[in-house]
Amino acid sequence: MDLREFSIRRASQATIPGELRPLPGQSERRFRLNVKSEQLGDGRWMHRFSHEALNSSDRDLSKCLFVELEIPQPVGPLEVLDPFVMMLAFRQMTLGGVLEVAGPVSRRLLRNLIQIQALSHNRWPDKYLPFGLEPDEIIEAPYHAMDRPSGVIAVTGGLDSTLTLYRETDPQFAEIGHSLGLAITVVGYNPGGDRLADGYENRHMAQMRRVCARRSLEVAAIRTDLWRIPDYVTRPHGAVLGGILALTAPAFSFAILASSTVSGEVWRERGCAPEWQWSYGTGGFDLPTSLSLFTRAERLVLLSEYGASALDDLIVCGTAENLPDNCGQCAKCVRTMLTFEAAGLPIPQCFPAQINEKLIGYGASKQPEIGYYAEIMNLMDALGTNSRALRILRRRYRRKALKRKLLDFLS
Ligand SMILES: [Zn+2]
Repeated sequence: MDLREFSIRRASQATIPGELRPLPGQSERRFRLNVKSEQLGDGRWMHRFSHEALNSSDRDLSKCLFVELEIPQPVGPLEVLDPFVMMLAFRQMTLGGVLEVAGPVSRRLLRNLIQIQALSHNRWPDKYLPFGLEPDEIIEAPYHAMDRPSGVIAVTGGLDSTLTLYRETDPQFAEIGHSLGLAITVVGYNPGGDRLADGYENRHMAQMRRVCARRSLEVAAIRTDLWRIPDYVTRPHGAVLGGILALTAPAFSFAILASSTVSGEVWRERGCAPEWQWSYGTGGFDLPTSLSLFTRAERLVLLSEYGASALDDLIVCGTAENLPDNCGQCAKCVRTMLTFEAAGLPIPQCFPAQINEKLIGYGASKQPEIGYYAEIMNLMDALGTNSRALRILRRRYRRKALKRKLLDFLS
């Protein structure tokens, strides 16, 4: 086969909907998605779904999960099961085989899955396998987009989503900003946090209400136990969160999900990167990308320009048990505190008063931490800022860079 023939064959496979197929020898491995949706009241829906392994040897992989919506707008029933397929797409790619869907899906979902499978399998051939999709029915993207001019924005309290919220509601960008109807926070997404302890959800919701009220936006909750899927945290947030938010598709036409990137990182190296995000959209529901051009350090400076109150409720902590507080002791808390110092800004009250010096430079031996620390030092150089903690960072970063070079040389 010459290259031209190969390209034509590949191109035609990639553009014909319904061509999703498992790898040879994998078609006997079958799974089935069943969904039961129940309207509980205005805007309140309970979606229970099962990802069922049909082969007896895979029985242990079956999972029953839920997503519960509690939002002020009536959302109406779903016309396609696209959101659930998207939530499970990366899970299914770790298994391969065939996914049967007990209900209709849209053509757009098929087109996007072809993209996601091709990108993922080519990049990580051992981790993600193409899978076949066999829905009961394939239909055109439903819903009436023109009747739903506004969308939702996902908020977590993190730096990326808070800055996105501020920029999208900034009168300065009124001409190009998205029209937002509601902010949504997903509760129960993080696997480590004890969501039942000490009124976690109430505290988180109160915090999100304070943040969104500053931008005159109401906030609603979606609850889920998707974290129960094995290796869940390693799967791209865009696909899972995009699927969850697409449950609002009968009322809203898009969701803004803040992207998270490290400068210097090739986007396609991470499935949660903005380059991928558009393909996590489903029938009748878009996921526009935002903030992709800014580094994390730049994002922090941009958010600080909205005033001290914009920083008061930041939650960046990487230690789930501590949420919704910042522990101040994990690598993510410490490097965010360092970024404030590098930007010449006071560390906000949502962090402990002191930086734990033992943790400065923690994780600087590998990506993405190397990239984040490099951003902090670039900011120091650009602004001429300095402090004891920043000097410690520079010293440790240099030492670790030398060690990395030496190890590279020896290998
Ligand atoms: Zn922390």
